[in-house]
Amino acid sequence: MPKHDLACPHLADLTPYQSARRIGGSGDVWLNANESPYPREPMAMNVSEYHRYPDRGPGEVHAAYARYAGLAPEQVLALRGADEAIDLLVRGYCRAGRDRILLCGPTYGMYDICAQVQEAGVVDVPLAADDRLDVDAIRAVEDVRVVFLCHPNNPTGNALAPEDLEAVISHFAGRALVVVDEAYIEFCPGRSVVPLLAAHEHLVVVRTLSKAFGLAGVHVGFLLAGAAVMDTMRKIVAPYPLADPCAQIALHALSDEGIARMRREVEQLAAERDGFATALAWLPCVARVRPSATNFVTATFHAVEAAWAALIADGIVARRLPHPRLADAIRFTIGSAEDMQRVLKALAAVPGD
Ligand SMILES: *Cc1c(COP(=O)(O)O)cnc(C)c1O
Repeated sequence: MPKHDLACPHLADLTPYQSARRIGGSGDVWLNANESPYPREPMAMNVSEYHRYPDRGPGEVHAAYARYAGLAPEQVLALRGADEAIDLLVRGYCRAGRDRILLCGPTYGMYDICAQVQEAGVVDVPLAADDRLDVDAIRAVEDVRVVFLCHPNNPTGNALAPEDLEAVISHFAGRALVVVDEAYIEFCPGRSVVPLLAAHEHLVVVRTLSKAFGLAGVHVGFLLAGAAVMDTMRKIVAPYPLADPCAQIALHALSDEGIARMRREVEQLAAERDGFATALAWLPCVARVRPSATNFVTATFHAVEAAWAALIADGIVARRLPHPRLADAIRFTIGSAEDMQRVLKALAAVPGD
């Protein structure tokens, strides 16, 4: 590890986010990053304006996403993935060394990492045993600037209860920003908190094209919020956050045809997921399969090391989870029917105890 003395001291011991790509692995079945298994089709690209800075980025893409999400274009900010939205929110609302975020673990790792980079504090109010929000414990926390809720939650897979979301959102009105990360919301239609944006200035919704839209390689995400938050975000976002090739692909995905395709793929994946979850629960080595409202399934094993070894031996790359509560768990992205059969076959030979 190269160490030099000029970097901010608080970064010395920071571990970068362990993305699926960073962890790596070897195999031919990749079920570790919640990516779509469906290849994208070639599309025509207009390159004639590529000697200029991109212009299509903001305007047209904002209008297209606003139409999809049922909002006004000025409530939409297109960014380099949902990850950039999370980073901007922490930078815009937490003063280094003074302010704190709240998260409910086990949850998505970038909330914590962005807070550490910004030198903001982190209050972890763990999910209850049934993976629901511990609303009373959350409401008891004072002095936080940004509350991150992941809905549905990665890596547990459950959608949050509407009454819990509403309770937390109304509690923090005027006190903290509530950010609802809806990276997987297309897998549970009708459950978005977007309709609550109109009544709550402190509510922010984060979305992405990386999951249900199957465009992780394009890495486009969205921040949805009212005028006050947007005003702050526009002050800190770097110029031209969306490269034009990404904007053109995003517009294609957000056309009527693109949205219809996404919905078909979500239905197929949900059917595949439910079949896989049922079959997984029957295996002797599996202790528990968490219900999922996403494109992944997280299961707990009697002997997780043996299960993991069986997957590796068969060339299947799934995901172990860093949270202590999930030490015995493996998260499987839903891939093709053949991929999921491979997983079931590899695990069928693993004994129960
Ligand atoms: C994948 C994921 C993201 C990151 O999305 P990008 O748009 O690819 O940056 C954000 N939040 C959650 C919960 C995710 O699972």
